[in-house]
Amino acid sequence: MVPRRGVHLDLKGNPPTPKRLLEHLDLFAALKLDLVLAEWEDTFPWKRYPELRSSTAYSPEFIREFHAKADALGIEVVPLVQCFGHAENVLSRARFRSLRERPTDVAEYCGSHPGSARLINELIEDVLSLSGRNIRRFHLGGDEAWHMGSCPRCRKAVRRIGRDRLYLGHIRPLLDNLHVHGLRPILWDDMMRKWPATGQRAIAREADLMAWSYGADPVAKTKGHLTEKHLQGFARSGVTTWAASAYKGGDGPWPEVPDVDARIKNNLNWVAQFKSRKLAGMVATAWSRYTVFMSPCETTEASLHTLVLTAAGMWDGNLPVDPVRSAEQWLGRWRGGRELRRFRACHGAAAALEQWQKSAVEWALTEADRAPHRNGEPTRFNPAVDRRYTDRIREDLRRGRKLGASFVRAHAGTIPRIWLERYVTSRLIPFTRRARSVLAAAPR
Ligand SMILES: [Zn+2]
Repeated sequence: MVPRRGVHLDLKGNPPTPKRLLEHLDLFAALKLDLVLAEWEDTFPWKRYPELRSSTAYSPEFIREFHAKADALGIEVVPLVQCFGHAENVLSRARFRSLRERPTDVAEYCGSHPGSARLINELIEDVLSLSGRNIRRFHLGGDEAWHMGSCPRCRKAVRRIGRDRLYLGHIRPLLDNLHVHGLRPILWDDMMRKWPATGQRAIAREADLMAWSYGADPVAKTKGHLTEKHLQGFARSGVTTWAASAYKGGDGPWPEVPDVDARIKNNLNWVAQFKSRKLAGMVATAWSRYTVFMSPCETTEASLHTLVLTAAGMWDGNLPVDPVRSAEQWLGRWRGGRELRRFRACHGAAAALEQWQKSAVEWALTEADRAPHRNGEPTRFNPAVDRRYTDRIREDLRRGRKLGASFVRAHAGTIPRIWLERYVTSRLIPFTRRARSVLAAAPR
């Protein structure tokens, strides 16, 4: 059994309605999960900087209610505020432009600018003010700050003291603040994988690391990914390390449903790691969109089967022979079968949308565009063939809109309508634009 079994709420895309988010807590508890990593992002009711809220941000009362319910269910909430990379929601606002590491990059804070840590501490205080008294840990994000050392000041600092000490210097005021609150900070591990032992030992004293890897073999020797060597290095340096798998959002930024086989392998292979090394616990991430500027990936509602299987794997390390069937059976027993019905509707609608995109977009981009009259032979035109293309495109357009409406209907009540519509639009737009251009080019 994995000692601490966590699940991630990536709320920057497809945020559940308040009622549904509380139901998710019940579901997590029933699945014997005991930790939630809450990445509030633009759903948090930011007090000092209200411009960071989305139009459907939760209310302060709701955040308190969420924490109270998690406490009552025995679920530890670990809030997350980004400290280095993936600060898009903050740094895309003109007000915070001066804190960017590169003028045109809204993802990364400048580690040498004293205003960066000052602002992040203000955001942390905002989150802590609504987080209740029972939180013990706080996640600072800190991943994928690939351009650290780009600005003249940071470049000089990297040359003088190295990347590890620049990073540590930037997060020092944040770590100090969290320590004063009696909280143990956690950071994603990727920026520290190649740090010298002195840097890793320094972080070990101050914070835990969460090693993320979403591939079938989480410690495969793939360039740019987490490897055995990285985990061994952390262990030698005395770093308290957590595992981070993915039950959804781990198969790329666009899918409509998770790849069940890949998710099972990723999670079970992470669980197996607990036999041979000391890890503090595991969090199954659930990316909803890779940045606030990207279209959302699969919804939680369409991914409940992989959530159930992941939680089961964390509990006993094993999966039944027919995992999807057994996940559905579990959902069928939960809340009188309502969850199973909803899951099937959401998963079915999402999978149909995915299938439509593959066939319709592929066809429109290839077949219709290969027609001679669109392709350098404008005088040779076969109206019968062209009609076939345009009819098919019109039919695909109609079908896409219908499938989009089904997707919204299936998810109704679980995610605010505005987000569902944005989701569907992001899927329909590439085909719609392409289709319009093909239809406009058809000779009359
Ligand atoms: Zn800088």
